[in-house]
Amino acid sequence: MIKLDSPDQLANATKHAQESNLFVQPTSMFRQYRVTDRDNGHGYLVDFFVRNGKRFGHCTCKAGQHNMACKHLSAAAALHACRAAERQAA
Ligand SMILES: [Zn+2]
Repeated sequence: MIKLDSPDQLANATKHAQESNLFVQPTSMFRQYRVTDRDNGHGYLVDFFVRNGKRFGHCTCKAGQHNMACKHLSAAAALHACRAAERQAA
């Protein structure tokens, strides 16, 4: 579980995400995304949640389980931000 509190936090992961062939899909659960790495076919689940007013993210990959901001989390965060903005606009 990673606490998301600094804009720089995902910067490095975002760079990796842009260099990777990732495919992000929302699942039927709000704030949950399935991220597929098209290069190796591996899929991971990314969850976002809010606890005590703080935002957290979690990914099922190895890095995510070691509380590292991974490229999957970064890629899903970008889509999640878009969707959250759409919900607020609606
Ligand atoms: Zn990950």
